Amino acid sequence: MAEFDLIDRIRSRAATRGDVVLGIGDDAAIVQVPAGRQLVVCTDTLNAGVHFPLDTAAADIGWKALAVNLSDLAAMAAEPAWCILSLSMPADDPAWLDGFLDGFLGLAAQHAVALIGGDTTRGPLSISVTAHGLVEPGGALCRDGAQVGDDLWVTGTLGDAAAALALLLPGAGLPALKRDEDERGRASHPASDPPSPLESARAEAIELLRPRLDRPTPRVAVGRRLGGLAHAGIDISDGLLADLAHICRASGVAAEIELDALPCSPALARAFELRQRRVLQATGGDDYELCFSAPVRARESIDALAVQTATAITRIGRVIAGEGVRARDAGGGQWHPPRPGYTHFAE
Ligand code: ADP
Ligand code: MG
Repeated sequence: MAEFDLIDRIRSRAATRGDVVLGIGDDAAIVQVPAGRQLVVCTDTLNAGVHFPLDTAAADIGWKALAVNLSDLAAMAAEPAWCILSLSMPADDPAWLDGFLDGFLGLAAQHAVALIGGDTTRGPLSISVTAHGLVEPGGALCRDGAQVGDDLWVTGTLGDAAAALALLLPGAGLPALKRDEDERGRASHPASDPPSPLESARAEAIELLRPRLDRPTPRVAVGRRLGGLAHAGIDISDGLLADLAHICRASGVAAEIELDALPCSPALARAFELRQRRVLQATGGDDYELCFSAPVRARESIDALAVQTATAITRIGRVIAGEGVRARDAGGGQWHPPRPGYTHFAE
């Protein structure tokens, strides 16, 4: 299948919207930015084996490629509108492309985002998406607005995506799993035996947690409403502590979070011991939840927003004077993670 057949396949499935003057098919797209609104633009790349496991289903890759960008727009309190898709794939594989589009265009439809152009090339599997959103002038939520005395909040639950990844790594999952002494003995049976309780628990945990790694939920509805409520915001892609540190640096403040307040999914609580769970919640990447600071007077509105959007929003700490991010355990002592978060090119 030639490049143009692939592009035709994409074009035939892409939905449009009224403000798209010219979509896929010309040298560039044209959109009508509504009068009196600002354009918010972001881009993010997913490389096979780096940003998703090599065995990830095509539909999940498509979903995630758009989701991480919609998450960036949500963190800016923007309403998503259009996107551009640059696709590098190793073979002209229409079945793979159809699966990819199921995930990508399925999520796009949920948020009324139009795919208006892109680029299709042969090469290692890599997907670059650029997303465009709209805000009222000055209405975007930036990293630099946190104020001393603000509350700190996060959406959803933390650590699930990193937990799934930990369980998928060969050999790395089993020791991380919660277990009792009884199961510890049985786990060492030869591979030909029926699955040990530990192996079954691992499979069950992966089944529950992997969708959080493969299909993150961009918090678009929450993000759009935060423009008027929050002072600063970011989406959590590299781990809470690392991403919160970006807000602190940009705002010239420090943050103090309560470890016990960090929201935890039932699946994570069941699969990991408290000590390991905390590391995943505080430093695990890929959750794509929102972390934001807001004045104390916004508490009721934020609780109401959680109800309206059917999204958990949890208060996890406060903004204080100084620099850096401190995490406190139940006894009030300071807690130090083994590593703060994910960084490309780090040693
Ligand atoms: P050009 O050679 O002028 O850059 P292309 O042949 O690359 O044009 O693309 C033709 C049209 O198809 C353009 O409108 C481009 O935006 C669109 N397009 C190409 N690849 C994709 C893709 N992966 N997703 C969406 N649109 C695409
Ligand atoms: Mg081109």
